[in-house]
Amino acid sequence: MEAVEKKRILVIEDEVHIADGIRLNLSIQGYDVKIAIDGIEGLEKWRSWKPDLIILDIMLPMIDGFSILKTIRQEDEKIPVLILSARGDTKDKVKGLRYGVDDYLSKPFDLEEFLLRVERLLKKKTWYEKDKKEKKSGHKIFEGDYYDFGDNHIDFISFKALCAAGEIILTEQEIVLLKLFIANKGKPLSRGMLLTAGWGYSPETSTRTLDNFIVRFRKYFEKNPKNPVYFISRRSVGYIFDHD
Ligand code: CA
Repeated sequence: MEAVEKKRILVIEDEVHIADGIRLNLSIQGYDVKIAIDGIEGLEKWRSWKPDLIILDIMLPMIDGFSILKTIRQEDEKIPVLILSARGDTKDKVKGLRYGVDDYLSKPFDLEEFLLRVERLLKKKTWYEKDKKEKKSGHKIFEGDYYDFGDNHIDFISFKALCAAGEIILTEQEIVLLKLFIANKGKPLSRGMLLTAGWGYSPETSTRTLDNFIVRFRKYFEKNPKNPVYFISRRSVGYIFDHD
């Protein structure tokens, strides 16, 4: 285990049981966590405590999450912000992206995925930097601005995709994995390779996270997610992305 510097995470969330659960789990991971239960307290603690990451709810008393985000971005363009919202609709995601949100997770969320996203945001790596790292480590990465397969269209500039599920906003992690799959079209990719290239983790990391992403890709891009034709499982190997 490498030594971890204690990073500060500010959780702006008015639902006490969610805020407490987040604090507990982040504390176990070794983070220093403070909670603000409304917008005013959130902005105060952001200014006085100077956190490394903000986890932000949208529906908040006093000042809503988008207004908080707007205020923060006027003074600090770099601090990573993860929106945690009960509302999962595309309009909110687009609004959040426009205001400079770094990542977006809908409640209820998968704890493992949440912790991975927190860790990634704290490393303050943009997906461009990630691409460079992967090139160095020898993994092929798709470099185009957009990609079409079947009835699906992925725009890597805006992170938007038009697909079987309608218009969706892709996360940074989804973009990274899609670029890997596209660059290696028709080739079986092992879970270990996908985890290492996608998350920078050792291949021993739980494969459930990866499998969850594949389930999501199938929901987005497959006409029949139960009978996938693009994101295909290869027992004891991993996954193949393929199309005509
Ligand atoms: Ca709320």
